[in-house]
Amino acid sequence: MAGLYATWRLLEAGVNPDRLGLFEASNRTGGRVLTVSSPQGFAIDMGAHNFSPSHRIVGALVERFGLRAVESVGRSPAGVVHLRGRSLTNTEIARSWFRRPFAYDVSTYVQRRGPARILRKALKDMSFTATGNDRRLRGRPLAEWTLPDALLEVLTPEELRYLADRLIYSFWRQPVQAEAALTWAAQEMFRGKDPMAELQGGMAGLPDALCAEIDRLGGRPVFSHRLAAVTLADPAAPIALTFETPGGQRALTARRVVLAMPAGAVARIEGLASRPEIKVLLSALAPQRAVTTALFYAQPWWRRLGIHGGASTTDLPARHLRHHGGEQWRGSHGGALLSYADGESGEFWRGLGDGGITSGWTGADHPVTAELHSQAQRMFGPKMEIPLPSPVAAFTQDWNENESAAFHMWSNQSKPEAAMQRALCPIDQNRIHICGEAWSPRQGWIEGALESVDMLLERQIALQWPQDR
Ligand SMILES: Cc1cc2nc3c(=O)[nH]c(=O)nc-3n(C[C@H](O)[C@H](O)[C@H](O)COP(=O)(O)OP(=O)(O)OC[C@H]3O[C@@H](n4cnc5c(N)ncnc54)[C@H](O)[C@@H]3O)c2cc1C
Repeated sequence: MAGLYATWRLLEAGVNPDRLGLFEASNRTGGRVLTVSSPQGFAIDMGAHNFSPSHRIVGALVERFGLRAVESVGRSPAGVVHLRGRSLTNTEIARSWFRRPFAYDVSTYVQRRGPARILRKALKDMSFTATGNDRRLRGRPLAEWTLPDALLEVLTPEELRYLADRLIYSFWRQPVQAEAALTWAAQEMFRGKDPMAELQGGMAGLPDALCAEIDRLGGRPVFSHRLAAVTLADPAAPIALTFETPGGQRALTARRVVLAMPAGAVARIEGLASRPEIKVLLSALAPQRAVTTALFYAQPWWRRLGIHGGASTTDLPARHLRHHGGEQWRGSHGGALLSYADGESGEFWRGLGDGGITSGWTGADHPVTAELHSQAQRMFGPKMEIPLPSPVAAFTQDWNENESAAFHMWSNQSKPEAAMQRALCPIDQNRIHICGEAWSPRQGWIEGALESVDMLLERQIALQWPQDR
């Protein structure tokens, strides 16, 4: 997204398309935006799927390109939480007055409160002393704590486990930087009742619209060109680039280079990866590994349970299952369950294939499809009077293929502000810049990737947004 957006903004600003090249390693645009359609024509997003009203750049592009945004279906009261072998609906958990909903050594009251409220209470109990933006916990800057250590000051280990199991991501128990992670969580989890939005037909509508605009302005993205090496000589001389292409290596030079790619991809570029400036930048990040798998069904059978969207959660490796199907705008009767599994759960799925999983379509009898369907059976079976129908197709995406990552967090002891600033021009006097979601103020979101481009264009190339955007 960052590469497309930067190209579009530069062309819009009048840069000659003959002097600007967009080189993409794969044979498609969109990167971590990937909409796939089942043979029955049921489209879902394997990667980014929605955006919030606070994502102002995404919102402005959606409006400008005339894309159709629809409200994402929020949390469903009938959505299922399956933990430690027991399945309960959100409503049943909220009504568990006398019995612990799940077998955790955590009080009924705390379990009933849901993860956002547990986290909000934990933050309150941390009794920070603050000087400016510098929150301190027990006298030490929060930025010097790891997330689990900070949380364990106010939660028991079982409470932390319960919190992590109820939430989507695995980073709650990873040594990521506490200040940045808690700020991120507060921003994303305490949004109030503002609904999220998605695009009719899928988020790929956004990169597709950017591509169409780039094309209209004379730009031509070049595919299957993986940047493999960069040679920096005299800062005044052009930068030498080597690409790997299906036809062999291709050498080019450029006066300025923007690397709009995840940390792992930068780490593979010869001539850059070994430089101390780049090593410092890379060490500021904690890349998150995830696998998503979509099971497509002839009918959205979960509607029998009163689930009309939102997600169900489990401590099984399926982890977080989004329910798609039945939305009026789809005009199709199919349905899909999308599992997002990161951390150890992601590794579980990676270990299932014969010699590792490969991203793409899989049959109903593939080990990943069969295992995910069987976990869905364990989650929803106790609530259904009939056996779950079998899936008709499945698609798996390993987001760590090609040294990518699902998203990035700030690593322990990192200094996000300094790293973001440094990424814009990491090697003194050289016109090489790094941007994208990883080094952005809003990691994990398309908006972050786009914000990092705006920062780059404004601070390094002095390109301002036109007033009428
Ligand atoms: C499962 C999942 C769910 C998500 N959900 C949401 C969501 O709901 N909403 C949201 O806003 N965001 C979401 N995100 C995050 C969002 O997708 C990303 O933040 C955003 O797309 C990142 O954009 P980017 O341009 O920084 O990186 P990318 O999209 O990863 O683009 C980088 C591009 O660089 C290319 N590349 C890599 N190496 C090279 C090389 N050496 N040479 C040439 N090209 C190279 C890649 O092929 C890729 O096309 C989700 C991500 C995932 C994985």
